[in-house]
Amino acid sequence: RAKELGRNNFQFFSEDMNQSILEHLSLEKEINEAINREQFSLVFQPKISLFDYSVTGVETLIRWQHPDKGMITPDRFIPVAEETGQIIEIGSWVLEQSCRQISSLIRSNVLPNTAKVAVNLSARQFTDPSLLARINSVIEISQIPPHCLELEITESTLMEDVESAIQIMQEIKKIGVSIAIDDFGTGYSSLAYIKRFPIDVLKVDRSFVMDIPDDKNDMAITAAVIAMAHKLSMTVVAEGVETQEQLHFLRQNNCDEGQGYLFSRPLSLGQLHQFLNENERMRQQGNHISLLQ
Ligand code: C2E
Ligand code: MG
Ligand code: MG
Ligand code: MG
Repeated sequence: RAKELGRNNFQFFSEDMNQSILEHLSLEKEINEAINREQFSLVFQPKISLFDYSVTGVETLIRWQHPDKGMITPDRFIPVAEETGQIIEIGSWVLEQSCRQISSLIRSNVLPNTAKVAVNLSARQFTDPSLLARINSVIEISQIPPHCLELEITESTLMEDVESAIQIMQEIKKIGVSIAIDDFGTGYSSLAYIKRFPIDVLKVDRSFVMDIPDDKNDMAITAAVIAMAHKLSMTVVAEGVETQEQLHFLRQNNCDEGQGYLFSRPLSLGQLHQFLNENERMRQQGNHISLLQ
């Protein structure tokens, strides 16, 4: 951070800065404790087919239950863990737990073996030299079919070093694991590279979906991104779907899947189990048909 201040680095000792360095240091220490004391847990948010309302998979999201501070959201601690390198250990845990838990739902036929568990990978995890070995070992330990695992990576992660990103992605694909681009539209990727990356799934960022149907520009961008992704043979998932109007617009524009509070909040494993049973029951009774018009 001092680097960013450049010639003005006398500001380094300003009150604000001191405060944030202290906070950062204490967070780093607390993250270590959280790892050792098992304060992290996972929730799973269903992804829904916009054609037939079936569950196509889930995204794993980490939660931190702090003994005094309550729930700390990933937006607050993941960036710190990324900076300190603690994300490698946390990320390994997330990957293994996700695969174990979802693999058991697939084996007991609660989830079809076409469903996928999507795990977020931070930049540091993506470039970690032991990533591929880690993925292989997790697949073996959890007995999850490789095609049931998907890794979500942001554009900015891929743009750090494009040539090596392409190589890593190709190695991941060789294992049979698929790749999703997370938060699409908010990073700095260029279309020249997007076409070279072996991407299976494109996730349209929530910021574009949020103001549908009020913002005509967001609607134009969303429709164009869906059309582009389809031409490049990618599956499109809309993030943050909260309303019936948004669902309607996305369906009109052939978006494949949706994720958001309209369908379900992120759920504990037990809640997910219940949601899957209930959703299947509703589907069989044709109860979702009105939502799909
Ligand atoms: P993300 O990967 O883009 O995940 C989607 C976020 O949107 C989640 O926030 C989810 O709870 C939230 N969300 C889903 N549907 C809706 C909706 O309809 N409305 C609104 N307002 N929000 C919705 P969450 O769980 O707080 O996670 C935030 C970010 O933290 C994630 O964004 C991801 O970048 C990161 N993250 C979460 N878990 C992990 C993890 O295990 N590893 C890494 N590296 N990053 C993670
Ligand atoms: Mg994600
Ligand atoms: Mg996202
Ligand atoms: Mg997002």
